Amino acid sequence: MKPRILIIYTGGTIGMIEDPVSKALRPFDFDHLMENVPKVKMLDYDIDNIQFDPPIDSSDMSPEHWQHMARSIADNYEQYDGFVVLHGTDTMAYTASALSFMLQGLCKPVIITGSQLPIGEVRTDGEENLITALQIAAARDRDGRAMVQEVAILFENYLWRGNRSTKRSADHFNAFRTNNYPHLAKIGLGIDYDHDALARNPEGPLRVALELDTAVISVDLFPGLSETTLRHMLNTPGIKGVVFRTYGAGNAPTAPWFINVFREACARGLVVLNVTQCLNGAVHSNRYVAGDLLAATGVISGHDITFEAAITKMMHLFGKKLSIAAVKELIATPLVGEMTIE
Ligand code: ASP
Repeated sequence: MKPRILIIYTGGTIGMIEDPVSKALRPFDFDHLMENVPKVKMLDYDIDNIQFDPPIDSSDMSPEHWQHMARSIADNYEQYDGFVVLHGTDTMAYTASALSFMLQGLCKPVIITGSQLPIGEVRTDGEENLITALQIAAARDRDGRAMVQEVAILFENYLWRGNRSTKRSADHFNAFRTNNYPHLAKIGLGIDYDHDALARNPEGPLRVALELDTAVISVDLFPGLSETTLRHMLNTPGIKGVVFRTYGAGNAPTAPWFINVFREACARGLVVLNVTQCLNGAVHSNRYVAGDLLAATGVISGHDITFEAAITKMMHLFGKKLSIAAVKELIATPLVGEMTIE
């Protein structure tokens, strides 16, 4: 049986061409993409595709697009062995995180990839990324089950867990990495999987959660953030959740006004998740007084979660229309391998 793979082409640099007049990159049609990669035919897979109409620069990505992708995967889940999503790099980590919460209990791979150079360019990284993503989507383990049973990002030399990934470079071919989780595979002469890092899910039905609630904001801490500005942000009408990006191990100012603002916000029922601004490491609320005081206001530790996973996890949990207490409990609980609690 040939592997059956569904490609969902959303847009991004991988499928862009240069506008002859303005010289800016603009999206083009999927057929051109496949025309530019004749090698795909050598894989001898059954490949179908769905494409966004029109394809988008991923800067235009929205929760509605995530719903469209998740629905396309859920509707076709039984018919295919794996899914490859072609996507711009700018918001790829957000999409990977969102899809991981929307499609739980995956027993099949959802591999997201793109490229830094358009696929029509001589030195493109897109051709290799597309072909490797297809091979990973078709790969089986020794028991004949899908090798990858989660949403993952394939880029250049590595396969990463999607909801742990961050775009780290606007220039390098190795544009992604996970700062708090090992790679799922290293791509060299072969594809070398890290079996301890790969998720293993019991056979069972896919649990699809399409609803997302965007009533969330982020607040970035910096020396000089004023009480007026902070109060204004935390009183934004209609918001339910805040991802609060703090210093180091989850530290924030100890000034009484600062602590009061958060105490009042949490007492009003706002869910505030503490995520570190550091690329690597986790929130340890009790390491310093500065973190301890914040935790006492009701702010919840996000441990080593990425910003991208934190914001999409909040959208997912509020989308489920749970009680505030339930959201607070689940936001602090790893759901799909997105964080590690030490
Ligand atoms: N702006 C592009 C996008 O995210 C960049 C890329 O594809 O790498 O769609």
